[in-house]
Amino acid sequence: MTGTLQTTEPQDIATIHGYHAHVYYRNEAERAEAAVLRNQIKARFEVIPGRWRDQPVGPHPLPMYQMAFATDVFPALTPWLMLNRRGLTVLVHPETGDEVSDHAIHPLWLGEVLDLDIDFLRAFAGRPGSA
Ligand code: ZN
Repeated sequence: MTGTLQTTEPQDIATIHGYHAHVYYRNEAERAEAAVLRNQIKARFEVIPGRWRDQPVGPHPLPMYQMAFATDVFPALTPWLMLNRRGLTVLVHPETGDEVSDHAIHPLWLGEVLDLDIDFLRAFAGRPGSA
């Protein structure tokens, strides 16, 4: 289902089949920090690194890259990012198959909360792809 209304029953965490961490940067200095962070993450955790997106793409208002990871990586990677995000804004969101809810309702922000373009996701709701 898609939408912003919560059902009355709590959603089972088994509906989460993975996570994304999106690491944002605003300029060359922050991009350099993001590069260090990217290598540190890859050296320590089982992640699938996404490509660099030097222009805003999809719902994301700033350049970024994405790291995809499994649910069993979350308890180690997330607190590590809390301590080591190098001043960068990081969005951690679950993947439940409902991209609108995953980005608009369920996300965990480390650092600044950015204004995602949720309307972009609504326009593509129900179609295959990832954000
Ligand atoms: Zn994502």
